[in-house]
Amino acid sequence: MAKVVCVLYDDPIDGMPKSYARDDLPRIDHYPGGQTLPTPKGIDFAPGALLGSVSGELGLRKYLESNGHTLVVTSSKDGPDSVLERELHDADVVISQPFWPAYLTAERIAKAPKLKLALTAGIGSDHVDLQAAMEKGVTVAEVTYCNSISVAEHVVMMILGLVRNYLPSHDWVRKGGWNIADCVARSYDVEGMHVGTVAAGRIGLAVLRRLKPFDMHLHYTDRHRLPAEVEAELNLTWHPTREELYGACDVVTLNCPLHPETEHMVNAETLKLFKRGAYLVNTARGKLCDRDAIVQALENGQLAGYAGDVWFPQPAPQDHPWRSMPHQGMTPHISGTSLSAQTRYAAGTREILECFLEGRPIRDEYLIVDGGKLAGVGAHSYSAGNATGGSEEAARFRKAG
Ligand code: NDP
Repeated sequence: MAKVVCVLYDDPIDGMPKSYARDDLPRIDHYPGGQTLPTPKGIDFAPGALLGSVSGELGLRKYLESNGHTLVVTSSKDGPDSVLERELHDADVVISQPFWPAYLTAERIAKAPKLKLALTAGIGSDHVDLQAAMEKGVTVAEVTYCNSISVAEHVVMMILGLVRNYLPSHDWVRKGGWNIADCVARSYDVEGMHVGTVAAGRIGLAVLRRLKPFDMHLHYTDRHRLPAEVEAELNLTWHPTREELYGACDVVTLNCPLHPETEHMVNAETLKLFKRGAYLVNTARGKLCDRDAIVQALENGQLAGYAGDVWFPQPAPQDHPWRSMPHQGMTPHISGTSLSAQTRYAAGTREILECFLEGRPIRDEYLIVDGGKLAGVGAHSYSAGNATGGSEEAARFRKAG
C-alpha cells in the first residue's frame, strides 16, 4: 500500500466556496493536435469545483483510501519544520503543483528512500531536481496539456493589458479619477507590432494562433522548427536563436520550460538586445529571467512593461522586488489553475496514480523522467540537470507574513 503526500495551496481566506460563479464547464473532447483529455477510470469530484487547494484534495481521498492507500494533504512545504519534510521519510509518491511547488531538491530526495513517483498536478517539473530523480530512479510525470490553453489565454490577456495600459487605467477608476491623459500616456495598439515567442510548444503555438487575428507580425524560436505548413498558415518568422528574436520584436513572450539551458536566459546582457520599450510577458517560469535585471530594465525604460504569473521562489517573499517594480502586471501563479484547468489536471493526476498503483504504464506524453533518464515529453523538452537551486528562500514567505 502506498503513502501519497500531496502538497496543495491554501484554501481561500474565507473558506471553501459555498457556490460557484458558473454552473458548468464547456465540454472539450480533445486538445489541439488530437491528444485526448485525461482518461481515469473514475473521478470523485464535481467538474468546476475548487480542487487545487488543501480542502479540494484534487478529489483523490476517496479513491486512495478505498484502495487501502494513505493520503496526506498539506500546504506546509518549506523549511525543515514543514509537514512535507516530516512526511517524506516513508512517502512513495509526492504530488505537487507548480503554483505552490514542493521543491524536491537532492537533499529532500535523499530523505525519501521509498519515493518512486514525483507527480506534477499541472505542467512544469522544474521544482524537482531532475538530475537527482534520474540518479535515484524516481519517475517524474506531469499532466501534459492540461493547462496549456489556460496559460495561452493568460498570455494574450497580459500582452493586451500591458500594451494598452489596462491595469493603471483601472486603478484611476478605483481611485475616483477620470484621468484620461494619465491613462493613455503609455497606451498603444498591438496591431502591426511584432510579437515573438521563445518556444513554440503547446503554449507558444497557441499564443501565436490567438494573436494572429490582432494583425500582429508573428515570430518564434525553438529547438525544433514547426512544420512548414504551420509556418505558412500563420506567416511565421523563425529565428535560429532567441537573441535574434529579441531584437526583432516589440513584444516577447517566454514559453519554454526551465532547465539548465534556459535558466536566467533573460539577463542584463541579453536585455540589451531587446528593442527599447519592448514588452516582456513570462508565464513560463520566474527563473528564466534575472530578477534584478528585469527591475532595472523597467526603471531605465529598456522594457516598457513586464507581466507574468511566475516567480522564483514561490511563494515569493513579501519583499520580492517584482511586487513593487514599475510598469508591471504581475499576479501570483494562477494562469494554469483556473477552475477549468483544475478539472483537467485533477483527472490527469488520478489517471497517472491509477497507472502507477496498478502497475500499468503511464502515458509517454506524461513522462519527464523514467528509468533513470529523461523520458517521454521530458526527453524532448528538457535537458538534464537541476534548476531548484535557491528554492529554500521560499521559506521566507511565511516568516515575513
Ligand atoms: P511544451 O513541452 O509543449 O513546450 C515547451 C517548448 O519549449 C518545446 O517546444 C521545447 O522545444 C521548447 N524549448 C525547450 N528548451 C528550449 C530552448 N532552450 N530554447 C527554445 N525552446 C526550447 O510545453 P507547454 O507549452 O505546455 O509549457 C511550456 C512551459 O510553460 C512549461 O514547461 C512550464 O514551465 C510553463 N507552464 C506554466 C504554467 C502556468 O500556470 N504559468 C502552466 C503550464 C506550463 P522542443 O520540444 O522543440 O525541444
